[in-house]
Amino acid sequence: MSTLLSPKQFDIVIVGGGIHGAGVAQAAAAAGYSVLVLEQTALAAGTSSRSSKLIHGGLRYLESAQFNLVRECLHERALLLKNAPDLVKLKPFYLPIYPETTRRPWQVRSGLALYAALGGLSSDARFKQMPKRDWSALDGLELRGLEKVFCYYDGQTDDAALTAAVMRSAQSLGAELLMPAEFVSGLRKPNHDDGYIVRYRHNGEEQLCEARFIINAAGPWSNQVLSRISPTVNKLAMDLVQGTHIIIDGQITQGIYYVEAPQDKRAVFVMPWQDKLMIGTTETIYHGDPAKVAPLPSEISYLCQTLAHYFPAHRNIDNKDIVSTFAGLRVLPKSMGSAFSRPRDTIFHVDNRDLPRLATIYGGKLTAYRATAERLLHQFRDMLPKRKAVADTRTLPLTPE
Ligand SMILES: Cc1cc2nc3c(=O)[nH]c(=O)nc-3n(C[C@H](O)[C@H](O)[C@H](O)COP(=O)(O)OP(=O)(O)OC[C@H]3O[C@@H](n4cnc5c(N)ncnc54)[C@H](O)[C@@H]3O)c2cc1C
Repeated sequence: MSTLLSPKQFDIVIVGGGIHGAGVAQAAAAAGYSVLVLEQTALAAGTSSRSSKLIHGGLRYLESAQFNLVRECLHERALLLKNAPDLVKLKPFYLPIYPETTRRPWQVRSGLALYAALGGLSSDARFKQMPKRDWSALDGLELRGLEKVFCYYDGQTDDAALTAAVMRSAQSLGAELLMPAEFVSGLRKPNHDDGYIVRYRHNGEEQLCEARFIINAAGPWSNQVLSRISPTVNKLAMDLVQGTHIIIDGQITQGIYYVEAPQDKRAVFVMPWQDKLMIGTTETIYHGDPAKVAPLPSEISYLCQTLAHYFPAHRNIDNKDIVSTFAGLRVLPKSMGSAFSRPRDTIFHVDNRDLPRLATIYGGKLTAYRATAERLLHQFRDMLPKRKAVADTRTLPLTPE
């Protein structure tokens, strides 16, 4: 271990270089704080490169009345379309309705109208019913029994590229990134007002720094990170829920299809992805090491069956047609309900109610990373020294490398 006499002090040390770590780094650097990000593997190595890659309000969250989440995500979608036009593209989404589809046309129409209202009735919020004469252009969608097709608009991105762009923006404002650098421990200083001594492993060596505030943005590893804090911090009971995607040879050109899996009526997306077809996702409770999450054969066959059900040209799909698969982990509050119906709001959990010096981000959406970061910093502003803001994340451009 290096014997630094006076470890460098940061206003904020962030654990994790996923979208939340990058987002908080950008917001904190913009607010004038000194920031260090520790990422143990690579940027977006966890969930932030394994999402469905949608920048969306989450149409289906309307069914569980998560209106604030949808409104916030639609607002963030609008900002990203403006600030990151090369990274986030608006795409048509198609919702086909068959006799066995659970959501009936009037329900879909009402949902889309509410979605448009929550999106501020902007031009991006428009939706329509596709005329029958246009159905044959829909990438070989099953036409037998097709009753109606609705079309609305939402965003698609490259999640890992977006994370990297946000981190570059943070670095351009002065945030420091150490990678690979593993957070090893956090020891709260005897005078609680002073924050933490942080120990991390970088270049094979353990090193120290001081943090007035730690933000634990370690996604599925968040509770592991909390185990490394002393004095002990309570952890929230969370389930890790794995979601798998498969990528197959083939192309769709018209947009993204939002279908209902025939097996259990869950929403599944069929989307174009880097000149191939991507289908996802699943929801399977996961108990292992987050670093080892991998698609299960049962999930792959669920996704193949869903694709084949709606796109007859893919009825004979087998393993050799699958180009790649990946699985990511959602962090959802523990409950008896199905993963599908659990709230997707972000939860901030602190080490000490009176004088918090550490906050953990549980859950959340890729889409809402900026608003999450802003809310978090606002909530803990009194715990941080006064600094002069140097930028506003609502207007900072994000560009691909
Ligand atoms: C299947 C699936 C599909 C999704 N689809 C969408 C979607 O389409 N749109 C959307 O808006 N949201 C989506 N989400 C949600 C979104 O992807 C996640 O909320 C988001 O990526 C979580 O990011 P994060 O930064 O919290 O975690 P992560 O991306 O997992 O980042 C955590 C990071 O912490 C690092 N780390 C862990 N321990 C340590 C340590 N000790 N020291 C240093 N670093 C450490 C890890 O290496 C990792 O890089 C989806 C999620 C899943 C699982």
